[in-house]
Amino acid sequence: MSQMYEPALAAFKPPVEEPRRDDVPVSDVTVMMVDDEPMMIEVTQTFLEDAGYRRFVSVIDPRLALTTARVKKPGLILLDLMMPGMSGFEVLEQIRGDESLRYTPVIVLTAASDPASKLRALELGATEILAKPVDESELKIRVRNSLAFKAYQDRLANDDPLTGLPNRRVFVDRLKSALLQGQMRGRQLALLHINLDRFRQVNDTLGHRAGDTLLAMVAERLRVVTQAYAGLMPLGYARAPMLARLGGDEFGLMMPELGGPEPAANIAHDIVGELARPFEVAGQDLFITPSIGIAMAPQDARDDASLLRNAGVATKHAKSSGRNAYHFYRQQLDNVSLERLTLETQLRRAGVRKELVLHYQPKIDLSSGQICGAEALMRWNHPELGLVSPTKFIPIAEETGQIVELGEWVVDEVCEQMEKWRRSDGLDLQVSLNVARHGLASGRLGEVIASAMSRHHIGPGLLVLELTESMLMDRVETIAEKLRALRDLGVELSIDDFGTGYSSMSYLKQLPLHELKIDRSFVKGSAEDRTDAAIVSALIVLGHSLGLRVVAEGVETEAQRATLAALGCDSYQGFLCSPAVPADRFVHTMRDFNARKGG
Ligand code: C2E
Ligand code: CA
Ligand code: CA
Repeated sequence: MSQMYEPALAAFKPPVEEPRRDDVPVSDVTVMMVDDEPMMIEVTQTFLEDAGYRRFVSVIDPRLALTTARVKKPGLILLDLMMPGMSGFEVLEQIRGDESLRYTPVIVLTAASDPASKLRALELGATEILAKPVDESELKIRVRNSLAFKAYQDRLANDDPLTGLPNRRVFVDRLKSALLQGQMRGRQLALLHINLDRFRQVNDTLGHRAGDTLLAMVAERLRVVTQAYAGLMPLGYARAPMLARLGGDEFGLMMPELGGPEPAANIAHDIVGELARPFEVAGQDLFITPSIGIAMAPQDARDDASLLRNAGVATKHAKSSGRNAYHFYRQQLDNVSLERLTLETQLRRAGVRKELVLHYQPKIDLSSGQICGAEALMRWNHPELGLVSPTKFIPIAEETGQIVELGEWVVDEVCEQMEKWRRSDGLDLQVSLNVARHGLASGRLGEVIASAMSRHHIGPGLLVLELTESMLMDRVETIAEKLRALRDLGVELSIDDFGTGYSSMSYLKQLPLHELKIDRSFVKGSAEDRTDAAIVSALIVLGHSLGLRVVAEGVETEAQRATLAALGCDSYQGFLCSPAVPADRFVHTMRDFNARKGG
């Protein structure tokens, strides 16, 4: 069969034996046919349809060939040589002279049997020559081969051969246009620079071949994480993330069309987790960790080069803060951000060093006057700074993505504590915990809660999750579905800081909620200020009309308590009863208070 190849292709064997998943399927290729005889076009099209091609563009007037091709961007052009008005040679010349069409395969169809015109067509850049009238099988084979050759060339130019990922050149190209688009649409873009820690050691001790194998395996896992993130996004969709090998042990991941840095933190977290499993190379288990630097556009840089550089700077920070971590770039490391950076680094170790603890604030039932539950509030017992307020470190943890781990820790810690209270004190207390801004979005929350509840034998109705209004500001169906899944686990759902957000009554009505917490700011003036009292009263009525339990937070005076009781509020929290106390003091606080209130 080899004599069927024209000289230009004689040496080329299309790599058909290794079909790759990113090969364009035949049905997606647009075939453009330029021929002045409609009959010919019809016949050719019928043959190709039979081979599975589905997209066709036909051009009868050769003078329209170039403009049509520019617009339709065909994967392949079938070009007749003999046409009135303009010859196929001229069309071919135009096509080869056009920047965007220069590499498009062109199969020339000619009835001319003279070698001179064949030679001329080849000289002008024809990919293949096909004799008219076309033979069906030959047409199909030549079309297929031309496309395979083109795909192969594209791959050589665009892909990194070791990993099959796009190379740096393609990545930077895409980055440039994504930055432009993001600018126009006012969207953010995250650039993750992923560098493997101590990769050189692998190369030095096990050899380059093992190093290469490891890189290919790492690339595969990165691809899995990226695809999981892309999820149901259509292929080639502008918002899909793009992964590339930038060179050596460096990978790049670009996430366009973001509203904030959280998704980048999430994916970086997932990458760290995914690479933590050992790699089996040459019969032995290898462990490799990444250091990931993240730069955001437009905050950290607006152009591709600065963004890449800043992501690299962030990678160095990740490495110096102990590797196997990710780090956001921050432009000015002034005192404030330096403090943050230190806190951030120290926060990473805080979990390990057991510096984080939960304190519990009592919740009092207004009709019985007795403590009926507690809210768990996180505290950081810093070795030098003392107790650091959660309002200071929770935002940092949210930005770096550490909040996911912290949140999981809180869930488990609370459940463990509830079990202790039941076993040693015979108390079945209802305990609330705070869910962070993207705790709900991360998807794992349900899983984590279900597991902690079953391990610590927590019955339904005892655990309460506090969410804020802003967390619920997504499409109502999406949120309702997530909340129903949580409710079905037996947890109750509460809206924290109520009144400070923008949720509408009709929106809330559609969500499976149990409780509403009136924000401290309204409670503050409720005993003296008529407007505040009116707002609190309205919020209580609103909550009850939605079938929710209403809790007031930040109650500091007896007057406030009395007002709330008179307005029909169900329960309260606040310094009037007690601030949050360590777990081991809670039961004492509770017994003491309840006894004083005559329980
Ligand atoms: P929040 O959920 O609104 O928690 C209530 C805050 O009000 C707590 O501050 C509590 O100590 C304080 N407070 C309670 N009673 C009074 C009072 O009578 N007067 C005044 N002025 N304040 C009172 P804290 O513990 O500093 O927590 C601040 C915020 O940090 C919390 O607000 C919550 O949004 C967040 N946070 C705390 N722990 C966690 C946690 O485990 N996970 C998450 N995601 N966020 C947490
Ligand atoms: Ca709360
Ligand atoms: Ca609150």
